[in-house]
Amino acid sequence: MRWLYLIASILLLTACMTPTYPAQSPAGIAVAATKTATILATAAPTASNTPTATATATNTPSPTATNTATPTPTQTPTNTPTSTPTATHTPTNTPTPTITPTATPIPQCTERIPPDELLTIVSREYRLSREYEPADLVPLSDYFDVRVTLGFDTYIRQPVVQPLVEMMAAMTAADLRPTIISGYRSYDQQYIAWSKWTTEVPERASLLSAPPGASEHQLGTTLDFGSPELDNEFHTYFYQTAEGAWLVENAHLYGFTLSYPREATEITQFYYEPWHYRYVGIELATQLHAAGLSLTEWQLANLPVPCEAAN
Ligand SMILES: [Zn+2]
Repeated sequence: MRWLYLIASILLLTACMTPTYPAQSPAGIAVAATKTATILATAAPTASNTPTATATATNTPSPTATNTATPTPTQTPTNTPTSTPTATHTPTNTPTPTITPTATPIPQCTERIPPDELLTIVSREYRLSREYEPADLVPLSDYFDVRVTLGFDTYIRQPVVQPLVEMMAAMTAADLRPTIISGYRSYDQQYIAWSKWTTEVPERASLLSAPPGASEHQLGTTLDFGSPELDNEFHTYFYQTAEGAWLVENAHLYGFTLSYPREATEITQFYYEPWHYRYVGIELATQLHAAGLSLTEWQLANLPVPCEAAN
């Protein structure tokens, strides 16, 4: 009897101990599960090698833990690649603002005082302030014969001087006789020119001349070239003169670009001006020449919105 009682008490004790397992905190289970999963994951290749490991796994309640644990390790590796695409998103976002300026509705700005940069956009929409005047203007009379400057008191920005001297020398060496009709033009000078056009030919003034603030000449990096074939006057046929034809083919090699090509009138909002060249540097000038692109088109696609940049 006493012996039977002993067995009964042992059985009771075991029964009382069993509920201790579910009493474990969920966190504890999770930790345990993760541990098992980690172990299983690492042990997996070894397990497939040894059939004993697989047998043990089926016997122990661990498979149940493995089932619950499986989503956890799967999530962990998934998280890591997810953060990588996020990093890839960032560079994809960067080019997007570059395209945005083209699509942005154009607010007219008329009071810009940009730094003396070579690529500043100047158009009918993006005008310069009356106050804007480049700081490094130099007189062309220091570099050219009066027959080249036609006796005008022409100024140009310092960075343009050397490329211009070289280009004019190359043209002279090719038996050409180019002249420089105009260079830097202040806001007030442009106002006078504009008023003259609007008074004399009001119906065509908007095509022939830029309103004050909208002229690239105010930048001091733009020149109008002439040919003796046209008595050094502005004419659409300038492109057919020996000087005009040479410039079309070679100006980019010296960093000059034709600002208002015939085929870009809609974009530039300026009538074809075969005599009007702007210095932008050899690299960009060559790029534009090769692509058959106007400077304005390139600027609208690649530069920040001018009015915002000015603020
Ligand atoms: Zn011009």
